[in-house]
Amino acid sequence: MFRKIKSIHVRNWFYGNICTKKCSHDIKKQKCCYDQMVEIIKGHEDYLITHKAFIWIICHKHKVCDISDELFNRSAHDFGWRKL
Ligand SMILES: [Zn+2]
Repeated sequence: MFRKIKSIHVRNWFYGNICTKKCSHDIKKQKCCYDQMVEIIKGHEDYLITHKAFIWIICHKHKVCDISDELFNRSAHDFGWRKL
């Protein structure tokens, strides 16, 4: 089963593990991503969510970080969601 974690922790994880890799070429973009994520989960910091659901919301729904479907699927493997 996927483990659910407070969205504020998943946001920090996402920023540290995905955004900082994906957007590392552009420090302004990274700041922008971070600010958008803060805004998206505002008021829901304690909401329990899986990593995968969070990435879906951030990348597919809100288009923050703009990762490709390929990377999305690959990162599902790389970040061990199946093991959680
Ligand atoms: Zn980003």
